[in-house]
Amino acid sequence: MLAARMDKLTPYVPGEQPRDKRYIKLNTNENPYPPPPEVMDFLKTYDANDLRLYPDHECAGLREAIAAYDNVDADNVFVGNGSDEVLSFCFYAFFDSDRGPVLFPNFTYSFYPVYCDFYGIPYRTVPLRPDLSLEIDAFKQRNGGIVLANPNAPTGLAVSLPEIETIINCRSPDTWFLLDEAYIDFGGERGNRLLDEYPNVLIVRTMSKGFSMAGLRIGYALGPSNGISALNKVKNSFNSYPVDRLAQELAIIAIKNARYYVEINQRVVHTRDRIISALRSIGWMVVPSSSNFIFAKHPSLSGEAVQSSLRRDGILVRHFKTIGIENYLRISIGSDSDMDTFLAAVSAYGT
Ligand SMILES: *Cc1c(COP(=O)(O)O)cnc(C)c1O
Repeated sequence: MLAARMDKLTPYVPGEQPRDKRYIKLNTNENPYPPPPEVMDFLKTYDANDLRLYPDHECAGLREAIAAYDNVDADNVFVGNGSDEVLSFCFYAFFDSDRGPVLFPNFTYSFYPVYCDFYGIPYRTVPLRPDLSLEIDAFKQRNGGIVLANPNAPTGLAVSLPEIETIINCRSPDTWFLLDEAYIDFGGERGNRLLDEYPNVLIVRTMSKGFSMAGLRIGYALGPSNGISALNKVKNSFNSYPVDRLAQELAIIAIKNARYYVEINQRVVHTRDRIISALRSIGWMVVPSSSNFIFAKHPSLSGEAVQSSLRRDGILVRHFKTIGIENYLRISIGSDSDMDTFLAAVSAYGT
């Protein structure tokens, strides 16, 4: 018999990673370009004997590299096994049931309600406008903290820092504001200055998208030292070594080669803008994007129908059955040639 709590568990459903044949994968927002050559060079000369040893449970070297990159102290950095893990620890550490519901937009990263249900945290969703933009004033209601993805997923829309500040001020300063910047390398403004200007603000980032290493599983949080200690307390109640040796070493190399990523991410942005224009010219509705994916719908066919046609054509995109966005597809930006294959396929579906 399973524990009774299992009946109430509704897990997040990740985008599929099929193995039946080779698809053009535009469904999980992976970066189409490889990590920098320095990462490859390191792997070629790595001494596997080191794997006998546990990793550094404090990720000291990696935290120092991130601290230098983000211009904070290493005490203001927490590293986890992907930002999903970091976010999960944040929900556990910062949100409670007695202060009012946690707020986040109705259409946003669908893991947030999963964490809330997992930890028994009450939440309330704030409706986006019909054009899927954020209604800033809608956050002015009783709450026990706020979570915001900027740029948002799956819409791709970013808000400005002054708008984020208005939202920060919608919560009581002793509750927490979580800013999920998974897509900040493709648009929008980094929120680092908010860390100095407001109490109880935490920024969560990932190396899965902008750093082209989704397979490595590295995410991190920047925030005040009391928040970082709380995350360490949660981590050490769960798994002392969630970040393995290779991941720590490779992430340090990636951060030190941040310049490389500026170039590949500019290419992604350039491709994205080209695809947005091309889709609009054949009648698609495309939400403006500040991320490495676009959120778009065919002028007449349902989201589900276009997704299955694309699948037959060997292309995977993400579709959410959620009412209100059920006719949209979230399409990751791949290489130029993959996106040309995608465009040719959808052009054949007509209008
Ligand atoms: C992809 C994504 C994450 C999780 O990334 P990890 O691979 O777990 O680091 C977190 N938030 C949003 C909004 C994302 O899209």
